[in-house]
Amino acid sequence: MPECRRCGHCCRLGGPTLMRGDADRLLDGTLPPSAIVCLRRGEWARHDGSRGTTADGAPRGDNLAPLTCEMLKLRGSGSGPHPWQCPYLRETTGQTACAIHDRRPLQCRALFCEAPQAVEDLLASGDFLSRAELFSRLAAVEPRASLWRELAEAHEESCPANAYFRLRQDLATTPDVAAVRRELAERERYDEAFRQLCVERGALEPELLPLVLGRPLRELPRPVGTLTK
Ligand code: SF4
Repeated sequence: MPECRRCGHCCRLGGPTLMRGDADRLLDGTLPPSAIVCLRRGEWARHDGSRGTTADGAPRGDNLAPLTCEMLKLRGSGSGPHPWQCPYLRETTGQTACAIHDRRPLQCRALFCEAPQAVEDLLASGDFLSRAELFSRLAAVEPRASLWRELAEAHEESCPANAYFRLRQDLATTPDVAAVRRELAERERYDEAFRQLCVERGALEPELLPLVLGRPLRELPRPVGTLTK
């Protein structure tokens, strides 16, 4: 039976998305809400079967597809060569370690790059943690969780990512590209204003925006060579 060599490759490519069973890691304080970003339904994201690698550890490349449900993911540390490098990866000379090894998320437990079936099965279960469920459970220990849930719902209603990307697709076929561009710009402005208002009114700290509202529309990844008009 092959064993993990602790090369850290998968953790450098990005932390996991969270499954429902991982809500306990936020309740016990292992993962602070500010460590999470919401990838909203309709956003384009990389296929994450074995965290962006093939069975032999090679990168999968640009394999973007729209998400059919929202997912909560560990934010990138911003310190590694890859923008999504896990913030809990620790590297000392020749050795890598996980700072939360005993309490690491479910996908990290299932993932082994030389035998990705277990993590593929976990992802195929579709048992992802959503903001609604997380905030409901967090309400027991976090008084602001109900407000976070209301803000997430209001934002989702007024700035849905799936509608934004449908509109971007219209750019390829519409006779009036300028009108679609104006509409896209308007949606991006509204999204920005919503975020700004939440912070200015003291409803959200800036570091909670990625979890409660996801990433700004204008910063969302787009498949290379498409939807970029
Ligand atoms: S939580 Fe630990 S095991 Fe999981 S990706 Fe981060 S460093 Fe790796």
